[in-house]
Amino acid sequence: MENKPLITVIGSINMDMVTMTDKVPVQGETLLGESFKTYPGGKGANQAVAAARLGGRVQMIGKVGNDAFGDELRNNLNKEGVSVDCVEASNVGSGVATIILSDNDNRIIVIPGANNEVTPEFVKKYEQNILASSLVVLQFEIPVETVKFCLQLCHEHQIPVILNPAPARKMEEGDWIKATYITPNETEEEDLFSHLREKDDVLSNKLIVTMGDKGVNYIKDGEVRNVPAYKVNPLDTTGAGDTFNGALAVALGEKMELRAGLEFANGAAALSVQRFGAQGGMPTREELELFLK
Ligand code: ATP
Repeated sequence: MENKPLITVIGSINMDMVTMTDKVPVQGETLLGESFKTYPGGKGANQAVAAARLGGRVQMIGKVGNDAFGDELRNNLNKEGVSVDCVEASNVGSGVATIILSDNDNRIIVIPGANNEVTPEFVKKYEQNILASSLVVLQFEIPVETVKFCLQLCHEHQIPVILNPAPARKMEEGDWIKATYITPNETEEEDLFSHLREKDDVLSNKLIVTMGDKGVNYIKDGEVRNVPAYKVNPLDTTGAGDTFNGALAVALGEKMELRAGLEFANGAAALSVQRFGAQGGMPTREELELFLK
């Protein structure tokens, strides 16, 4: 186990609270809904779980609340085989997403809570854990300064970084350039990198754009290359991007060639969209290898 490449995910840990209802209440109205369930989530935790299910040795650096959700979120990561030695409990509550789902209307409020306390100072405490990594995975559900700090640290120590720029946040070119790969979906690419289209420079060459059932685009030798998605019948695409990023981390950690890694990640994401839930849909290594045969 110790010989396996270590993947470190520095990011968010949330509890998703999902209320299903026929009808969304109007102002001042109280309704009886259909059901309520909680699901562990947050892009950081989701990507860590995706990588662990696929056989990665994964540690998470993040914060939960000093509350019941915090215990549950930490236990969930532990159960999935993700090391939680660098997950601390904060007096600010756990990050939560309140999700109201009805047939034709989804409403979501995210409270970052403890995730906002994943500051550069906090991450600095775990510098040695980061420096022991083969690969680091980052997203934008923690403060941008922390992402910049981690990019700089990894850049100085030549540790490869996958930066999943979700939700889209702006940074200077000098910050982006420190990532090894940047994995926006189509909307994030439009928001952040549309000015790079047709350009063949260091930054544009780092982009891996995920495009749902159209697969992924990346640039090689100045040309846009596509790795097609697998043809499947999607049931729930929640967490497809997180599965993709976790899987890509495992592939690159194992030193697969980029294109082979993208096929591996497309395969994992194609399996995940055929099942309900973000973490619920993530495949094991065995399932993925069977699918890719
Ligand atoms: P989400 O926010 O739902 O987690 P995303 O918008 O970040 O997803 P997408 O680009 O939609 O990410 O999907 C990521 C990857 O998942 C795609 O590159 C593809 O490999 C796979 N995928 C998504 N939807 C489908 C689909 N309908 N069929 C096959 N593969 C899919």
